Formats: sequence, structure tokens, C-alpha cells
Amino acid sequence: MPNYSRRGPSGSSFGGPGRKFSNNGRRPQQKRRGGGEYINPERFVQAAKPVIDEEIFVPKNQFADFDVEEIIKTNLAKAGYVTPSPIQDQAIPFGVEGHDIVGIANTGTGKTAAFAIPVLHNLMRFTDAFAIIVAPTRELAQQIEEQCKMIGKGSGVMGALLIGGMPMGPQLRQLRSNPQIVIGTPGRIKDHVERGSLKLAGFNMVVLDEVDRMLDMGFLPDVSYILKQLAPERQSYFFSATMEPKVKALITQFAPKHVTISLKKQATSESVHQDVVHYTHATDKVEKLHDILNDDKVEKVIVFDETQR
Ligand code: AMP
Repeated sequence: MPNYSRRGPSGSSFGGPGRKFSNNGRRPQQKRRGGGEYINPERFVQAAKPVIDEEIFVPKNQFADFDVEEIIKTNLAKAGYVTPSPIQDQAIPFGVEGHDIVGIANTGTGKTAAFAIPVLHNLMRFTDAFAIIVAPTRELAQQIEEQCKMIGKGSGVMGALLIGGMPMGPQLRQLRSNPQIVIGTPGRIKDHVERGSLKLAGFNMVVLDEVDRMLDMGFLPDVSYILKQLAPERQSYFFSATMEPKVKALITQFAPKHVTISLKKQATSESVHQDVVHYTHATDKVEKLHDILNDDKVEKVIVFDETQR
């Protein structure tokens, strides 16, 4: 059973407030551009705020209580799913009722089952139901397919996996059997639509997973193209780790009346310890970087500099 609670302060920051990667007592080089006033970047640096542990989560449901097909419950029990994660506990009942859902959740929260359970339940109940799940990467699409296979085992629901970089032949064969569930990456799904091997007009459930990542990867035109081909009366699930403006705009356009389920209580940036590291010349720069990366307390670090080199 994965631990769904957030990490405490010890896991999220390094060094602690006020810690500086020292410059051996030297004054920082003060740079002026175009003769303007020097602005010390340290003015904008903030120490990590501790991440407040979420209250202990008490689920409203157990998997056995959900109003979903028995075969799903049996498969979940066999896979060791007993207690739903927070996103599952909240999203599954809304999904089963047919609401559009926006889930703000990261990988590891159990988001896949949060949409796969209600989607598969509806596919089993309604023969005219068809679902398409769009994910940014092949790997994610494959993981989603694996979970769907586990949840839908023995139900007779047929699926197709349409991912880029794979031969077309097997995908075309899968599509000829009129699958009820199609999982794939945006570019390859669009390819199939354009060559006429996939007709989306009958698809009345859609899941966009990791929407923010998909848009960061430049898939907005493909995603919009896919959404516009779907049945006008449909149920939509949008999952994203962040709710940045471009994600919001897509959701406003394609699923304006949705229920939002958010697990994020604090912006990531607030839990990141920031610092300014001064260096004198290229070798010193490499030395300083080396020290940071070697520091036991540093788990993850993002370095910004004037030049990538
Ligand atoms: P996800 O966030 O959807 O990528 O899921 C993370 C991992 O947790 C996957 O390996 C799931 O199989 C597993 N998982 C998700 N929900 C549950 C649950 N309620 N009980 C046990 N395992 C789960």
C-alpha cells in the first residue's frame, strides 16, 4: 500500500533557512548592466517554508462500498486495493455519476485508478459507451493500459494502445475489432484519426492525463483536434499536477461545468529552499556546483545561471 501522505519538512528542503553556500568570505562580484543600478539577487531569495503535513486522511469509502461493477471490486481486491487514496475516494463517486472531473494530483496519488475505475464501470454497463485516454508519453500510456487491464480483467472490454514509435500494423488490427477503450499519445491518436482508422465521433468519455505536461510538450493543437472530434455529449476527466493558465483555458473551453478535486494545498515553489551561489570564474563555478551536488542534504536541485554552459 503506497503512502499517500506528503513528505514532511525534512524531505522537501535542504540546508534549512539561512544556510548559504559560502563564497569563502569574499564579497560577491557586483554586476551592472548598461550602467544601471545593481540589484542584489539575494533580495529575492526565500527560505523554504515547511510543508505542512496533510491531516490524516480518513476515506469516506472502501473499494467494496463503491457503486461499481462487482468484477471491478473483485479485481481490485485481488490486486490488494482495499482503501482508496484521497483522489480515488473523492473522484470515483463523481465519475460513476457522470460528472466532468478536474483532478489536480501528481503521479503516485493513485490518480490512474481514480479515472480508470469509473470509466471501466461505465464501459461495462453501457454497450454504447466508448472511452479515450490521452497521455503525454508512451510510458505513461502503457502504465495506464496495465492498470486498466488489471481493473477490467474478465469483463470482455476490448482496448487498443496507440503510441508513437511503434509499428502501425498491430494498432490497426486492434482498431479493427472496434475497441471500447483507446489509450494513447496525442500524435499517434491524431495519425489514426487522419488516416481514417479511428473514428472518434462515438467516443463519449475522455480522459486527459497529465494535461500540464502534455501542453508543455507542445501537444495543444493535437489535443484540441482530438477533443473536437469526440461526441458532443460526453464525460471528461482532466488530470494535471498544476492548474496553470493554459491548462485552465483548455478546461474552460472543453469542460466548463466540472467538479474540481484538488490534493495540492501548497505551491511547490514555497517548499523549495532558494539560495544565491556566487562564483568568481569558470573553474570556481564548477567547484561550487560540485559542492552543491555532493552535499548529503541536497536531494534535488535546480540551478539557474546566465549561461547553460
Ligand atoms: P498512480 O498515482 O495512479 O500512478 O498510482 C501509483 C501506484 O499506486 C500504482 O502502482 C497503483 O497500482 C498503486 N495504487 C493506486 N491506488 C491504490 C490503492 N488504493 N491501494 C493500493 N495500491 C494503489
